[in-house]
Amino acid sequence: MHATHEVFNQPAPLVDYNLFETNQPLRDALTFNAPALDTAPLLTLGALMGSAEMQAHARLANVHLPQLRSHDRFGRRIDQVEFHPSYHALMAAAVQAGLHGTPWAGQGHSRHVLRAAGFMLFTELEPSVLCPISMTYAATPALRRNGAIHAEWGPWLASRQYDPALRVYAQKRGVTMGMGMTEKQGGSDVRANTTQAVPDGSDGWGARYRLTGHKWFFSAPMCDAFLVLAQSPAGLSCFFLPRVLPDGTLNALYIQRLKDKLGNKANASSEVEFMQARAWLVGEEGRGVAQILEMGTMTRLDCGLGTSGLMRQALSIAVHHTRQRHAFGKRLIEHDLMRNVLADLALESEAATALALRVARAFDGPDDPHEQAMARLLTPVAKFWICKRGSAFAQEAMECLGGNGYVEEGGEGVMARIYREMPVNSIWEGAGNIMALDLLRALRKGDASSALVQELAPARGMHRALDQLMGSLPTRIDAMARESEARRLVQDIALAVQAALLAQTAPGQVFAAFCDSRLAGDWGHTFGSLGGGTRFDAILQRALPA
Ligand SMILES: Cc1cc2nc3c(=O)[nH]c(=O)nc-3n(C[C@H](O)[C@H](O)[C@H](O)COP(=O)(O)OP(=O)(O)OC[C@H]3O[C@@H](n4cnc5c(N)ncnc54)[C@H](O)[C@@H]3O)c2cc1C
Repeated sequence: MHATHEVFNQPAPLVDYNLFETNQPLRDALTFNAPALDTAPLLTLGALMGSAEMQAHARLANVHLPQLRSHDRFGRRIDQVEFHPSYHALMAAAVQAGLHGTPWAGQGHSRHVLRAAGFMLFTELEPSVLCPISMTYAATPALRRNGAIHAEWGPWLASRQYDPALRVYAQKRGVTMGMGMTEKQGGSDVRANTTQAVPDGSDGWGARYRLTGHKWFFSAPMCDAFLVLAQSPAGLSCFFLPRVLPDGTLNALYIQRLKDKLGNKANASSEVEFMQARAWLVGEEGRGVAQILEMGTMTRLDCGLGTSGLMRQALSIAVHHTRQRHAFGKRLIEHDLMRNVLADLALESEAATALALRVARAFDGPDDPHEQAMARLLTPVAKFWICKRGSAFAQEAMECLGGNGYVEEGGEGVMARIYREMPVNSIWEGAGNIMALDLLRALRKGDASSALVQELAPARGMHRALDQLMGSLPTRIDAMARESEARRLVQDIALAVQAALLAQTAPGQVFAAFCDSRLAGDWGHTFGSLGGGTRFDAILQRALPA
């Protein structure tokens, strides 16, 4: 073999670095939201998440996809999904980091903020395994509505040991949970659910039912239990459905097939049928939507956190790449137009981080009326806005890598994976319109307008465009936007809150550039169209220290 050419001007991969240490916007947002927080666990997690070993697990879990084994070789149904060992390594790391049920069981302040920051860091490594992690985290508030089950399962849900075995919970070291709402005929409108729940006596876990029907989307079907919706005699109700029954036999949950998805590949999403599956009532019969929405609220928080993490990952790769790659006589990052693109992405990423972490803080103050109002208002706002921005963001970050960005290369092309992953957070757990309508509902409760004014107050007087937007919101809220205007309203609330947060957490040049572009109109319709007065160097140095 004769060498035809030398390979040069191709960047080294971004590996073996500390994701937390290098993320100044996240650290500043943490200082703001949880000043007394001990961030040592995040430093440890940041190193692990940036390591070559964990990156290899992320690649392998996305290349060797989950396989459904519906029957054993003798023809008996087993309904199991088989994963590559790297999937299990990732799950074990996420559980070890306490990203699932731990905040509910722990002591001390800012547990949800700590977990949120960890969740963002983990997303930068591999987002799809976080689906069951997020659902496990989200299940606890709703599960508390059945005290007996919660008392027995709570410690297992909070355990930091990952145990993938399909066994009765009492013989396990830790458990995970999922949820089943969506059916073929309706996902957003779950009132259309047709799965039937027939009363079947009661026991130590309360009223027992037999469920017959199906779920069209049922992610992570190897979870140990699920909260599911079904029609009982009193209407749509929420049920706890374990995969393995307390006597050790498999519940009548049959996995029909796994979804062939755009992204989110390492995670198995399935279609299932229940054939007289045993389940126990959670909360009041007939109030299933309200009950399961307690779970939905937490997974919606995670959609905002996860997308922020993905944005951060895409930005870091783009900055890292353009610092090394040369074109037209200098490094890409030295070209004015590329600096505009990267700085614009950096602003978007920092604003997403600030908003997502602010929402997480609201869940650390369940007894504080202002925090309750912020949880109600800002959860749909963050899920709508951050997730909507995600796909456009990923496309632009990918383009910074040129053709290499579009190539998967056996899972090594992380940018392509990020791009394919982005839309899911926007769709699942309530797509964009549903979030916008949810905000309208939240605005009708209590004095949402003054809660928002209070939230924005610290930034008053700091930028003329922000002042104008702040001034207009109470009137628009009180006039109550029509449904057709809901997206515009949710966008403007998101931008106002992001700007107000940046005023308190970011350097002046970041805040000014964000307000000038997003609020004052000194901006185009694509990333990379910031105004000429922008301090690109300062923004880029902050985004990823050289
Ligand atoms: C990868 C993946 C994993 C999933 N995992 C799960 C899971 O584990 N458990 C589970 O229960 N579900 C799961 N889902 C389902 C997901 O939550 C639903 O797909 C989602 O809620 C939308 O429901 P739908 O698909 O029925 O769409 P539809 O409800 O038909 O909505 C279609 C579109 O119409 C819009 N729309 C609906 N109503 C209105 C309205 N009133 N006004 C204006 N617009 C409206 C929606 O915003 C959406 O854009 C998963 C989905 C995906 C993609």
